Amino acid sequence: MTNSFSHENQSILKITQLKDVVAGFSTKNGGVSKSHFESLNTGLHVHDDPEDVINNRRRIADFLSFPLESWVCAEQTHKDRIKKVSRLDAGKGATEYLTSIQDTDGLYTGEKGLLLVLCYADCVPIYFYDHDKKLVGVVHAGWKGTVANIAGKMIQRWKQEENSAIESIQAVIGPSICENCYVVDDYVVDQVNKHLHKSDDKPYEEVSKGQYRLDLKKLNRQLLLKAGLKQEQIHSSSLCTSCHSDLFFSHRRDRGKTGRMMSFIGLKEES
Ligand SMILES: [Zn+2]
Repeated sequence: MTNSFSHENQSILKITQLKDVVAGFSTKNGGVSKSHFESLNTGLHVHDDPEDVINNRRRIADFLSFPLESWVCAEQTHKDRIKKVSRLDAGKGATEYLTSIQDTDGLYTGEKGLLLVLCYADCVPIYFYDHDKKLVGVVHAGWKGTVANIAGKMIQRWKQEENSAIESIQAVIGPSICENCYVVDDYVVDQVNKHLHKSDDKPYEEVSKGQYRLDLKKLNRQLLLKAGLKQEQIHSSSLCTSCHSDLFFSHRRDRGKTGRMMSFIGLKEES
């Protein structure tokens, strides 16, 4: 329930709960990008110098012992498409945005030696691990992906297509914007309400007429519970990407001109 992420070094936070899995989140520190992207920007699509981004990604690849040729990256579009990937996808989007898996915000695999990578600047990374079937996955959930229930859809997919037993799945909610930093309007809250029963705890609070603080981590936890996970199967980071300006880029705080952190998850070759 508390902080599931610990510092590996200035650039990498690793998830402590998931055994046999390399999983975590990058910080904004220890890279070569300049200006708005100082310094460990991992986003190839944000008009940073691509050579700097690739250099940054190589540093992370070295830290994790997963070369860029083993990375699988997606063209994220704030929707709910989830793609199962394989060795045939290795290297897609790793050094060129154009080769990313198209129109996809969730990736999973059962193959070892692949690193699933998605980019963020406030949106919620949610990691999945089935220790029985040896499946790893990750989704990118901003408010749109969250209300499209991309988190619940990963669970459904694993149950239906991979024969996952619900009790073998663990989920980890990563660093992302907190409710104090994230105010939304009625339009968003109306879509949140579609997922909630009257008796459910509200993941938002009205702060002024038509303006609400929204806790996306809490809402995603609620959606994972509705998908069948138990509280003890869901871990969460308390870190906020906007509050912690020393650690993270934040799209809201930096008014759109900023870099991206990346989530990563992969099964080690030897496990
Ligand atoms: Zn915050």
